[in-house]
Amino acid sequence: MLNHNSKVLVLAPHTDDGEFGCGATISRLIQEGKKVFYAAFSLAEESVPKGYPKNVLETEVKKATKVLGVDPDNLLIFRYKVRNFAQERQAILEDLVKLNMELLPDLVFMPSLNDLHQDHTTIANEGLRAFKKTTILCYELPWNNVVFSNNCFLKFGDTELNKKIDALKCYKSQHSRNYASEEFIRGLAVTRGTQIGARYAEVFEVIRMVL
Ligand SMILES: [Zn+2]
Repeated sequence: MLNHNSKVLVLAPHTDDGEFGCGATISRLIQEGKKVFYAAFSLAEESVPKGYPKNVLETEVKKATKVLGVDPDNLLIFRYKVRNFAQERQAILEDLVKLNMELLPDLVFMPSLNDLHQDHTTIANEGLRAFKKTTILCYELPWNNVVFSNNCFLKFGDTELNKKIDALKCYKSQHSRNYASEEFIRGLAVTRGTQIGARYAEVFEVIRMVL
């Protein structure tokens, strides 16, 4: 089925959301020859921990997406203020509509429509508006999801899992968060893999599926 999806777009409200939600999937799709675009909507300059330069997340997302195999030209950075996406909803929608016209993706990854983070909710809602005619899979961020339907799995091996872990290690400014630990990332991949009799997997919520 994935063979039909040659152009993939990952919507990441903040720079590391795409790596957390679908880092191993990105790595697998790129190895299979798919073109993957990664759009990040905020560098969260207001939330950077003390001692780091304001633009640290720009440096880190460039490194992290490179680890996953994303072509640097396919990393698209927007500079919305963190926690302010709701106020910028229309501008974000217009950026997404433009992305759709320019890239014509046939598979879009985004946060869950039930994700509790206010910026994630905006990207999910506006993403659905902009890409309503495209296959949309929502990625899992368990610390933000009260409900999540485990209805689509993508399996992978050690190579992809290690790339996901290495990509997330690039975010040195964010390493204090407990879900950034290698133990958690491995544990979740094992959990999702176990549900489908595979070694590792990432899980997605199907919003739209165009076959
Ligand atoms: Zn986020």
